[in-house]
Amino acid sequence: MFSSVQSFKSIFLKKLESTYGKSFEETTKQDQYQVLGQMVREYISEYWILTNEKYRFTKAKTVYYLSIEFLLGRLLGNNLLNLGITDVVKKGLKELNINLDEIEEAESDAGLGNGGLGRLAACFLDSLASLELPGHGCGIRYKHGLFEQKFVDGFQVELPEQWLRQGNVWEVRKPDLAVEIPFWGRVQTYHDGERLCFQHLEAETIMAVPYDMPIVGYRNKTVNALRLWSAEPSPLPYHKDVMQYKKETEAVSEILYPDDTHDEGKILRLKQQYFLVAASVRSIIRSYRKKNNNIRDLHEKVSIHINDTHPVLAIPELMRILLDEERLGWEEAWEITTKTISYTNHTTMSEALEKWPIRIFKPLLPRIYMIVEEINERFCRELWKKYEGDWKRIEEMAIIAHDQVKMAHLAIVGSHSVNGVAYLHTEILKHREMNLFYQYEPEKFNNKTNGITHRRWLIKANPELTKLIKEGIGDKWIRQPEQLTELMRLKDDEQFLIRLKDIKQKNKEKLALRILQQTGTKVDLASIFDVQVKRLHAYKRQLLNVLHILYLFNRMKEDRNFKPYPRTFIFGAKASPGYYYAKKIIKLINTVADLVNNDKEVCDYIKVVFLENYRVSLAEEIFPAADVSEQISTASKEASGTGNMKFMMNGAVTLGTMDGANVEIFERIGSENIYIFGLRAEEVMNYYQNGGYHSREYYHYDRRIREVVDGLVNGIVSDSYGHFEPIYDSLLMQNDQYFVLKDFSSYAEAQERIGMDFSNVLEWSKKSLINIANSGYFSSDRTIGEYAKDIWKISTPQNVLQ
Ligand SMILES: *Cc1c(COP(=O)(O)O)cnc(C)c1O
Repeated sequence: MFSSVQSFKSIFLKKLESTYGKSFEETTKQDQYQVLGQMVREYISEYWILTNEKYRFTKAKTVYYLSIEFLLGRLLGNNLLNLGITDVVKKGLKELNINLDEIEEAESDAGLGNGGLGRLAACFLDSLASLELPGHGCGIRYKHGLFEQKFVDGFQVELPEQWLRQGNVWEVRKPDLAVEIPFWGRVQTYHDGERLCFQHLEAETIMAVPYDMPIVGYRNKTVNALRLWSAEPSPLPYHKDVMQYKKETEAVSEILYPDDTHDEGKILRLKQQYFLVAASVRSIIRSYRKKNNNIRDLHEKVSIHINDTHPVLAIPELMRILLDEERLGWEEAWEITTKTISYTNHTTMSEALEKWPIRIFKPLLPRIYMIVEEINERFCRELWKKYEGDWKRIEEMAIIAHDQVKMAHLAIVGSHSVNGVAYLHTEILKHREMNLFYQYEPEKFNNKTNGITHRRWLIKANPELTKLIKEGIGDKWIRQPEQLTELMRLKDDEQFLIRLKDIKQKNKEKLALRILQQTGTKVDLASIFDVQVKRLHAYKRQLLNVLHILYLFNRMKEDRNFKPYPRTFIFGAKASPGYYYAKKIIKLINTVADLVNNDKEVCDYIKVVFLENYRVSLAEEIFPAADVSEQISTASKEASGTGNMKFMMNGAVTLGTMDGANVEIFERIGSENIYIFGLRAEEVMNYYQNGGYHSREYYHYDRRIREVVDGLVNGIVSDSYGHFEPIYDSLLMQNDQYFVLKDFSSYAEAQERIGMDFSNVLEWSKKSLINIANSGYFSSDRTIGEYAKDIWKISTPQNVLQ
């Protein structure tokens, strides 16, 4: 099918016409996408079957990565790349006068995630398959992914996302593997001889139907699966109102919660979490049972990883199966469970740690609640043995306290490994947030610095740069990304540096076209493309960036001789619909963009562009075109960041705080190749603990700050719509929790240095090259290699077939 351009072309044409019953000329890009997608999926299925046979035959230990989010983006281009058939397809289509890029644009992003956490899960799946490791994802097939964002008068408006409108060519529905998940009802206990048994009665059940999506490894014939569960009514509902039941059931996989860190406390969300976990664990056990007969060896063949606490009910669910169905004793079941499960923590912000009120938890999941209670009681007894009389410590560590279930505590207690996602983050976990648990079981804690797949984020997103790197150092780095360090040999090669700069320029031209199309703004191609793209959050400090733009604006208006190096400030960010403050910041950025872009004296030097609907496919166009990567979170707040790594790999230079993985980027490239500013994590945490920061002092003593902050309320940026008092108040009345004013001066100084350094073309290009050369460490292949070896104990099975 893809063995030659000729055969591809003829099969494609035939299929296109037979599927749609119209002549080739009449088919749309969408028709063409559907047919090409089907062809690729058919081609994949052969390898998919072989991979499964290999796993079955070798009985290889398998990891299941449970995540409430998978932010996959588009799949066509990635699958073509990993299958190694991009060129054949491209050539064939070209002969038919079709541009592959346009077909790719007909695919909707699979946006089943909010941001970093969901995208990490997607990168991990790509690396597992590319390293030929037996590892599958388990998630929810949300009918609506993350909302589509539009700006109306500068305000964010959310539209329901409809990724399944045209169907999904990549998925295979497997109704025969459906499982029933019980909710509500009551638990009856009875004796069977000596044994106390439990039965869940009068439950309302929901059918979980799996849809499998192939995850294709890089040119290695490996195809793993992402199993997404869809909620449907059970065939035998135990009900009065069938329509009501159907509606309530389907609601479980209807929407992804567009909420990053603040929890909404919705029953539906807990229902989703148990739905994911119960369906996944049941199917994992069933598949284990097919290959193995002793449930006591489960942990030797299966590893279950929980991505943050959302899937933490996998712990009591596995306990339930081992106790109630397999009839093991508690100790035995507990040992198997903890040896099977491992947990990644993604945040140290206490307001983001999940807690569920018992009054919601207990009635919804009565048997699971009983098990959690017993886990808690036994855990507290153990603590008592070690810390007799230390009530305060035990209360702080308990899983259930003050009528709430603390999901992070359950996750730590019920797993054998707890990891943070960057060195600094893990240290903060060990020594601050989770310190009591670290004291109790230090051996559980470990770090796994995040990574990104260099296949999507470099090879696919930036083909020109990929070609240049291959010319410079060959292609060994493609399978061993850390070999990118070979590029260091070329750091003084002027010709190479010029070519690197030319590629950046071309990518900037492409992005400029997209900006013009989408916003009508014409940007200066010679300007610095200074980019901040990520979810909108107070701690990520988009506010610091926009206040600095206002400062540049004020200064230009005041001093006609002040001419900053031309800049295009590019933003992309979605705010959670209920996050009032974040939405204010969106309006502020849009208002500043209007002000700056329409001022004749200023707009030749600075422009502000806010691209709507930031998502994976748009990200792929932005990263290759960036000169400056804004990673300016309040130190200690960003667990790792992965956007920072995508920028680095595409040759952008970081302007950042010593936070998350920025610290490790800094260590790899040295201070000449990154712009570090602001408070350190230690300093921020000391201020939180001991006080001593007074934001008003910075307002009073720094005229620049006073002018921009006053501008928020005196009419300069507040038009008839914009009321930025809440932002003003957060800075002055609420003492600026995120140290925006404290870090302003140091940020402005770093920005000024960037402006000066950028004009030295060769020096800047050298910084860019050094960033690329040292980005291999941040490939998720490295990260997954570490998880596989240290936590999951999985390895590539020997190829026994062929
Ligand atoms: C990488 C990525 C993120 C995470 O960005 P951070 O800067 O690490 O917060 C969020 N959304 C999308 C679409 C991404 O590709």
